[in-house]
Amino acid sequence: MDSINFFSSEFFWYHSFMVFLMGTLVGSFLNVCIYRIPAKKSIVFPNSYCYSCGSPIRWYDNIPLLSYIILRGRCRDCAARISPRYFFIELLTGIIFFLSFWRLGYTWATPIYIVFICYFIIATFTDFDHWIIPDSISIGGFFLALLVALVVPSFYKGLIITRAGPFSGFYFASFLNALVGGAVGFGLLYIIGVIGSWVFQKEAMGGGDIKLFALVGALLGWKNTLLVIALSSFIGATVGLILILVEHIAFKNKRRTLQVDDSEPSTRTQPNADELSHLNEILAKLDKAHKGVSLSRAIPFGPYIAIASIIVILWHTEITNALNYLFFVRYY
Ligand SMILES: [Zn+2]
Repeated sequence: MDSINFFSSEFFWYHSFMVFLMGTLVGSFLNVCIYRIPAKKSIVFPNSYCYSCGSPIRWYDNIPLLSYIILRGRCRDCAARISPRYFFIELLTGIIFFLSFWRLGYTWATPIYIVFICYFIIATFTDFDHWIIPDSISIGGFFLALLVALVVPSFYKGLIITRAGPFSGFYFASFLNALVGGAVGFGLLYIIGVIGSWVFQKEAMGGGDIKLFALVGALLGWKNTLLVIALSSFIGATVGLILILVEHIAFKNKRRTLQVDDSEPSTRTQPNADELSHLNEILAKLDKAHKGVSLSRAIPFGPYIAIASIIVILWHTEITNALNYLFFVRYY
């Protein structure tokens, strides 16, 4: 029998599956990070425990995806419900690991961008939960991106930053490009924030978002940062509009079901005065809550930055080709 080189690219699908499994394992760890980093707890100690009864989670109950299904989303000790988000984040991380491997292949870009995509996943969910993007993620990621640009350019195949700046051909080009990218990302968002606050007369851009753009700029270069700004604004506006529409319809339906129907008194039991005042109270609350909803408030901006960055990392060649084709400009 011929010897088989198990590490050759013929085994792409086998490797993909391993990468996916690794992703679910890392996703399980990201769940811990998302919960503990904003709470300023250690991410390595103690081991995972049930947030309801505090009992440590056994290794065999900590298998990504499978354990959640086997335990039907409940703690083995106290049967408390475990959020399906844990399952979802494990699955999502697995899928994104696979996508990265599929798009970037057997290059240094794959493990490097995977690390930063993990940063984006953490930022997304801490922003959902607490409207916080931890500095260890945004600023920490910025310095990590500078370090990568300094250390890895000799293996630069597939890394975007080396091609995305004014310093191509210079010594330390990718490091300088990363530095310029970070400054452009941070500076542009800062200016957008100032203008937005002035126009809307309230804080338009959170500090966390601005710092996250320092990471985006250092990781992707200034040109791709412009792409991320455009793409994240577009996704944000689209989702925001859909959310407002959905909320509006849900609100109308809710109001209709709560409204006391006076038109057919014979078919309904009339509510007594107590019930009536209670209903009106709920209606008043609903009205008030509905008025507070606005586009900028619906969802934090961090998740859109993260999604746009991941799209640009994985498909920037296709995007820039499409832009070149559409606008007849040479992007690079
Ligand atoms: Zn428990």
